[in-house]
Formats: sequence, C-alpha cells, structure tokens
Amino acid sequence: MTTVPPTAAAPLVDPFGRTVSYLRVSVTDRCDLRCVYCMAEDMSFLPKAEVLTLEEIDRVCSAFVKLGTRKLRLTGGEPLVRKGIHELIHSLGRHVKAGDLDELTLTTNGTMLFKYAGDLVEAGVRRINVSLDTLDPHKFQAITRWGRLDKVLGGLQAAKEAGLQVKINTVALKGVNDDEFHRLVGWCGEQGFDLTFIEVMPMGEIGDEARLDQYLPLSLVRAELAKRWTLDEIDYRTGGPARYVRVAETGGRIGFITPLTHNFCESCNRVRLTCTGTLYMCLGQEDAADLRTPLRLSDDDGLLVQAVRDAIARKPKGHDFIIDRRHQGPAVPRHMSVTGG
Ligand code: SAM
Ligand code: SF4
Repeated sequence: MTTVPPTAAAPLVDPFGRTVSYLRVSVTDRCDLRCVYCMAEDMSFLPKAEVLTLEEIDRVCSAFVKLGTRKLRLTGGEPLVRKGIHELIHSLGRHVKAGDLDELTLTTNGTMLFKYAGDLVEAGVRRINVSLDTLDPHKFQAITRWGRLDKVLGGLQAAKEAGLQVKINTVALKGVNDDEFHRLVGWCGEQGFDLTFIEVMPMGEIGDEARLDQYLPLSLVRAELAKRWTLDEIDYRTGGPARYVRVAETGGRIGFITPLTHNFCESCNRVRLTCTGTLYMCLGQEDAADLRTPLRLSDDDGLLVQAVRDAIARKPKGHDFIIDRRHQGPAVPRHMSVTGG
C-alpha cells in the first residue's frame, strides 16, 4: 500500500514559474517501424531488466497525478507494441474516471490500432495522435523502412469507428513528403482528422541521412499551404506547443510545431519519463533525474515524490535546437524514441 506524503498536494512549479501539469511517458523504446528521421536501422534496444514494469509506470504516473498532473500521454518507441499495454491504459483510466486527470492519451504509429482502438475508448481515452508522413504506400515503406500503409489506414478507420478523435502528426521532410502536403490537408479534412506538421529535430544519431537534407522550416510549409487553402488564425490550444489555423474549405484544423523556427519553451508545462524511469525536464537538454531508484527503494511514495520535486526545481528555461551548416550533429545524443517526442 503506497502512502501520499503531506507535501504531495503542492503543485509542481519550476524556477521560472511554470506549473508542470503534463507528463509524457515513453513506455518502451522498442518499435515495429524504423522511421529514417527517428531511428537507425540497426538500433540496439534496452535490456528488459532496465525497463520499468507496467506496475512501476502506473505508480510513477499516479504519483504525478497526485502532484497535479492533469494530462498523461503514453508514447514510445511504439506504445502499443508493449506487452500488456492495454492493462496499463485501463488502470490509468481510473484517474480520468475519478476526475483527477483531464486527459489520458497516446501517440502511436497506428500499426496496432486495429487491435486496440476499442480498448482505448473503454479505458477513457478520447483523442489520439497518429503519426503519418505520407499517403503513398511506397513512400511510407521508404520512410518507415519496412511499414505497411494499409495497416495504418485500417487502424485509423478502426479508431474512427470506435469514436476516437484523431490528430495526424506529419514530420515535414524536404524532398520526401513536401509534394503531399496539399493532399494530406484535403484527406484529413475528409476524414475529420486534425493535422499537425512537425519540424525535424536534431535528436540522436540516425545513420546516413543528413539532417540538413531533411529539414524543412514550417514557415515554408505554411506559405505553400496558403496558396491553395484559406488558413484562418484561431486560438485553439491543446496544452501542447502547436499553433493552429482552421482551413476554411474543409473546416479542419492544422497545427504547426516549430521547435527550430519558433521557440515554444516559455509556455512549457511538461516533463518526460523514459521507460527506464529517467525523468527529462526538457526535450532538448541532457539533464535528467533517476526516478527508478527512489521508486524501487521503498513502497512508500515519499522518496519518489521528493525526487520529482528536486527534478522540477532544475527544469531548464529552454532548449537550444539548431540545424544549419555548422550544426549537423544531434543537439542531444538520445533518440526521439527514448523520450517519445
Ligand atoms: N511511435 C509513435 C509514433 O511514431 O507516433 C510514438 C513515438 S514517436 C518518437 C513520436 C513522434 O515523434 C512521431 O510523430 C514522430 O514522427 C516524431 N519524431 C521522431 N523523431 C523525430 C525527429 N527527429 N524530429 C521530429 N519529430 C520526430
Ligand atoms: Fe517508431 Fe515512432 Fe520512431 Fe517511427 S517515429 S521509428 S514509429 S518510434
């Protein structure tokens, strides 16, 4: 039986006055795809012993909920390939049902949605983000190195039928999917999906692909879209860093996540937990706190809560991502699949 220390009620506020109310959890570093901008083909994954059990992930998440976290996002690697994931999602859903959590959600590549869409809704998940960079099956296979587009499209259909709201995440890749942005906008409009474009971030060694070749500033994407679509500014926010417009012709929303061309750190409300129990206070910085040790040292949450508070007290002001001719290496050595974006 875990106990809540008396300090647990005080919210998590960092040194810059930002309240931390959003926890993203990478439940596994493993994935059934190998997207070229995210992983090397021959990735080595963590030994299972280093990875938190699902019960331990539940305990950390629940401690965060007691500390004022209102939004939980499961990510990865691919969250839906972790064995027993539906049990974790069901268990965490109790916080939504109790009103202690506003949102339980996940970011997925969609390959397993055909199996889990119904489970997610039952557990209290209302919205999901699905990553999809192209509607062309050959390109999809090239980007993901071995994925099948039809499986993802089938999963999206299952999500829709189950009643999940879907937001598509598309990484803008120069020379790869930049000829498909209009098509993606139209398709998302038809399907009733929101669409968010993401700039490639310099994280982790990824093999031969040079980042400078992939990088496409979203200012250019937006300018291109504006040639065909009427983009109306709206002040819709999802608690994340995306800025949204509404497409007058489709009624759909388009978000832009611009870590490189627009620094979104001033409103950052989030921290990220890896599947080994390491807490990163900033996506673009290396400083991290080990939560696995305090978690395993005692069944009481006192040490864990103290470690979380100490970590939040060190949350940095922002990241220093930059991609140009002089900075082609990763800003941080870890891959996106470690912290889940
Ligand atoms: N496997 C799941 C998926 O693909 O949605 C969840 C994890 S994935 C790391 C989360 C998001 O990060 C995806 O939308 C992916 O496209 C994005 N991503 C991965 N590497 C990235 C990079 N270097 N720059 C920008 N986005 C990246
Ligand atoms: Fe896997 Fe997601 Fe990374 Fe693609 S972006 S390799 S689906 S973790």
